[in-house]
Amino acid sequence: MIKAVRGTRDLLPPETQLWSFVEAKVREVMRAYNFQEIRTPIFESTELFARGVGEDTDIVAKEMYTWEDRGRAQSDQGQSLTLRPENTAGVVRAYIEHKLWDRGLNKLYYIGPQFRRERPQKGRYRQFFQIGAEVIGPSTAGSESPARDAEILEMLATLLDRLGIQGWNLELNSVGCPADRASFNLALKMALEPVVGQMCADCQRRAVTNPLRVFDCKVPGDQPIIDRLPRISQFLDEGCRKHFEDVQEILKSVGVPFILNDRLVRGLDYYTRTAFEFTHGALGAQNAILGGGRYDGLSEALGGPAAPGIGFAIGEDRLVMSLAETAPDLALKPDVYIAPVGERLNAEAARIARELRREDLVVELGDGNFRLTKSFDAAAKLGARYVLFVGENEVKSGMFALKNQQTGEQVSVPRAELAAWLRSSK
Ligand code: AMP
Repeated sequence: MIKAVRGTRDLLPPETQLWSFVEAKVREVMRAYNFQEIRTPIFESTELFARGVGEDTDIVAKEMYTWEDRGRAQSDQGQSLTLRPENTAGVVRAYIEHKLWDRGLNKLYYIGPQFRRERPQKGRYRQFFQIGAEVIGPSTAGSESPARDAEILEMLATLLDRLGIQGWNLELNSVGCPADRASFNLALKMALEPVVGQMCADCQRRAVTNPLRVFDCKVPGDQPIIDRLPRISQFLDEGCRKHFEDVQEILKSVGVPFILNDRLVRGLDYYTRTAFEFTHGALGAQNAILGGGRYDGLSEALGGPAAPGIGFAIGEDRLVMSLAETAPDLALKPDVYIAPVGERLNAEAARIARELRREDLVVELGDGNFRLTKSFDAAAKLGARYVLFVGENEVKSGMFALKNQQTGEQVSVPRAELAAWLRSSK
């Protein structure tokens, strides 16, 4: 038997109903905040991620699905391509490529699969889905303003509330600007020097290449050492400090609760200033539902104009997981199972099915070859509320027998009133 590849999975009904429910709510909220949808390709040139995510990040260093293209044309030969591990780099590439600033398009959202070769576990997959949004320059749109950061965070709180997710925490930090980070990195390097020998191999590498990434470490033995390292909050310049205070002030005034966490530096290199994560207790070890932050230098790093930006990515798989316990039963159950009594009645049954479906009812159509018991079994398996018999007598008289599957009661309803009757008895 051929099975789905490790770390990938099939999403089956009725769970897919929950996914559709989440996505419909997302679209509703995005619309209220004036975000429009963008869809970028699921593979891009490898260089985009190397530059846009950062060479030293775990994603680029270890987790990307990368291959050399084998196109016939000379220009395709050997081009290094990568399945997108995240979508911000793709959105910013598209922003630059299509000069979206000229079209006034600076608030965009996406929903789609991402790919990372991580060790699969509960809540962590190799193909997973993200829902994300980006506010990207130009400065004239106020995209560097703390008001944007606060608006994004308030939008996320609204989305989680509307989905009925309770008990989330917003963890907030500022990672400063490149100059702050340079002095912080230096201080970190010095603080790490005497202790790095006792840390894991990844941290030893990070200490040399990019000390900030030490804060990504999850190895339990390293945590007491990391707890004693200097914090970015001590290195913020006046502008960054003020920006961060303003974000907090707006959040307080709109009533979005948050917790300051100055260990939060996020996994991607291009973040500046505000960094955040929403966590949820019910998710276990992989408790981050979403993460995001400001990336004021990203557009320039990708060869574009100065275009400050802020965005986030929600792990849709985890969002659905945190909903699953409280969500109503979303399994689709037919309102009616139509049982033509005899093959000659298939056409008439199809006509009735068409009429009822036009009235927005969920209809399953049986087969005239079935004996009645088989129709009943099929209707029961699907959880249909009613069985409608279509026999010669019914067609002649125009009165149709409807059997309530739960109570066993049977009523006779004129054809023209079938839809209204089924609707009113929901
Ligand atoms: P990141 O792009 O790493 O900041 O991730 C943003 C969000 O995507 C996280 O908070 C998770 O909810 C989700 N996520 C990241 N990696 C995975 C994965 N391998 N499987 C499932 N969800 C993931």
